[in-house]
Amino acid sequence: MSKRIVILGAPGAGKGTQARAICEKLALPTFSTGAMLREEIAAGTELGKTAQELINQGCLVPDEVINPMVARTLNSEKFAEGFLADGYPRSVAQAQNLKKVLAEMGTDLDLVINIDVDLEAVVGRMLHRAEIEHRADDTEPVIRHRLKVYHETTEPVVEYYRNEGILLEIDGNGTIEEVWERIEKQL
Ligand code: AMP
Repeated sequence: MSKRIVILGAPGAGKGTQARAICEKLALPTFSTGAMLREEIAAGTELGKTAQELINQGCLVPDEVINPMVARTLNSEKFAEGFLADGYPRSVAQAQNLKKVLAEMGTDLDLVINIDVDLEAVVGRMLHRAEIEHRADDTEPVIRHRLKVYHETTEPVVEYYRNEGILLEIDGNGTIEEVWERIEKQL
């Protein structure tokens, strides 16, 4: 049974929703670097202040901030037996760091699920979500920038894991239920 899982997908691909369903089905604890950063912002910490402007511009938060945060998380008791990571890694450098952190713990990833969607369809979905959630990073120019960052920096991570031989590609077009059915079949 796969225990150490990463979920990848463009912003708005529905990966947060699918991540929750996977965790429930496999009884795995999950962490989302985006959610952790939003908590830091809400708590008004130094880390939160550094992150806020970058997030609002649709830019990535630097590895010097993210990598130690993820290393601390993975070394905590809660994730000792397995996890599902949502929003990390977002670059090949982060993927290499994740491999190193896990190797130091004597383990490695078992599975990477990529929710593959049509990027233009995603803009529409995200604008719709912006109306509901009022996230400061969900305005159209910021959404477009996030998608550009995704294409340039995060998409190569898919190839990285394909080469590692642990990639599961899921067609992410369609309804939440349709996508979930495709994932569930493969778990
Ligand atoms: P998310 O909730 O995963 O869409 O993340 C929201 C924002 O947090 C992203 O647009 C980035 O600015 C930042 N962020 C989340 N995860 C990472 C990461 N692994 N590396 C760099 N920045 C991140």
